[in-house]
Amino acid sequence: NWLSNNIDWSLSRERYWGTPLPVWECADCKHRECVGSVKELSEKAGRDLTELDLHRPYVDNVHWKCSKCSGKMARVLDLIDVWFDSGSMPYAQWHYPFENQDKFKTQFPADYICEAVDQTRGWFYSLHAISTLLNEDISFKNVICLGLILDGEGQKMSKSKGNIVNPWDVLNAHGADAFRWYLYTATPPGQERRFSSDLVGEVIRSFTLTLWNVYSFFVTYANLDKPAALTVTAGTNDLDRWLLSELNVLVREVTKAYENYDATNATRPVEAFVEKLSTWYVRRSRRRFWKNESGADKQAAYSTLHTALVTVAKLIAPAMPFLAEELYQNLVRSVDASAPESVHLAEWPAVVDEFVDESLNREMDLIMRLVSLGHAARQKANRKVRQPLAEAAFSVGNPAERKALANNIDVIADELNVKQVRLLDAATEAVSHIVKPLPKQLGQKYGNKFPAIQKAVLAMNAEEVARALLSGNAVAVKADGEMYNILPEEVEVRAQAREGFAVAEDGPYVAALVTELTPELVQEGLAREFVRRVQDLRKTADLDVADRIELFVEASAGLKAAIVTHKEYITAETLATKLSFGAPPARTSLVEDEFDGEKLKAGLKKV
Ligand SMILES: [Zn+2]
Repeated sequence: NWLSNNIDWSLSRERYWGTPLPVWECADCKHRECVGSVKELSEKAGRDLTELDLHRPYVDNVHWKCSKCSGKMARVLDLIDVWFDSGSMPYAQWHYPFENQDKFKTQFPADYICEAVDQTRGWFYSLHAISTLLNEDISFKNVICLGLILDGEGQKMSKSKGNIVNPWDVLNAHGADAFRWYLYTATPPGQERRFSSDLVGEVIRSFTLTLWNVYSFFVTYANLDKPAALTVTAGTNDLDRWLLSELNVLVREVTKAYENYDATNATRPVEAFVEKLSTWYVRRSRRRFWKNESGADKQAAYSTLHTALVTVAKLIAPAMPFLAEELYQNLVRSVDASAPESVHLAEWPAVVDEFVDESLNREMDLIMRLVSLGHAARQKANRKVRQPLAEAAFSVGNPAERKALANNIDVIADELNVKQVRLLDAATEAVSHIVKPLPKQLGQKYGNKFPAIQKAVLAMNAEEVARALLSGNAVAVKADGEMYNILPEEVEVRAQAREGFAVAEDGPYVAALVTELTPELVQEGLAREFVRRVQDLRKTADLDVADRIELFVEASAGLKAAIVTHKEYITAETLATKLSFGAPPARTSLVEDEFDGEKLKAGLKKV
């Protein structure tokens, strides 16, 4: 409570260099005068002092006769405290009130100032103190206060420890955009934050490259298709509607954060959006861009992705000015010469309220969550994503979520590469639970009551206890005639998948995959493995995304049978006009590989 206990501020300092106190004193009667301007000083001294250097020693040579006793007036030798100089900055910078009165009025009080936390008692305070004395008003409206910057291990940087990070090393390695973005997103500015070249490099890996890959995906296909007007309309495709809804929520959030001088919340949500844009929208929409024919759906995909990228460029412009400009120049200026010259001159994006559909956002969040849970279950079963599985079954929280699941069966089946998606009749169909009251937590809390509590918990229905605790709720337990509220962190809940299932859980959500493989599923998995190797081969052969090829295959019996069964799928996926078995002819790009106990030699030729 420093401010209300504030003590008097001694204005003078016994120093030589600095701003002299403008106070003169009579040597005889101690009468004092404070001088307010050079003009006033000149009048008192009886000579023109316009050219006088107002510092010591020159100003100390100015004297006049005391108006009370005719003694000699001499300047007191003290200086004024430097914080008074700092606090006078808003006036001093304009030589106010002697000049620039209009300019001063348009700039005072300041919108915001920014300095480290140690300026709270220094500059932040002296600015307000002086403006309160002069105008009974504040000097600035907002402060962005910066915490200390620590090294990568959280230690204070110091020269003697040698753990100082040279900013130029970081700038040269990762660029100014990543540097800024890290500082904005790492922690709110007032908190201490770790800093190292590697942490800034992580921005490139986790954010910049993700955004760049989406951008480069768009540019690759747009250059092939040359889509017409890219104005976006309320589309019919669920993915487009969802992306535009998320985008407008993002614009709303980021704008609000910037208006509140909240750099962290103006940047972090963009990262989350770009992640969804990349791992969900582009992944799920990829095929819409691959289609040969151009149609309304393809056009809608182009317009939606273009709008998202241009809007993101504008939203990151204050924080990542160079990347934003690069995106904008190519996405906007190269196709529209009448557009503002730079992203930094473009209008800030406006929220289009009719595009926002919160229930759709919730629905898609749930689907993404279930898919990621499904992938976690698959990992436990150690089955590659390319291996189709018979079934994924889910347990969700409420009727709205059950409906959302039903609406998105196809999406989930496609993402998880399963033949069938359904609701579990009950979570217990795929998983059972063991609950174990923890002696350390409960013993510490309840002492000798622990054995009775433990016994009571174990006597309850384990599934009901587990479900409540996994959902983050407490469980009421009666032991020795008393009620206890047992918390989730006080009981270990262990899940056991039932025979034939691989299971992953997250709160009230359960994903269960049927892990048994039929010969048909194995064949389909092999066909997908084969397609992946051909796609890699297309890349190493440096083919364009639309190039047609001819395929030559030598394969062991199981793989050959799979390729024959799924020939249509394979040729469509790889843009092969012909697939023949036998040794690849000379001068074809080749791949040789072994997987899942099968052998493959394949070659391709551009046709
Ligand atoms: Zn006097």
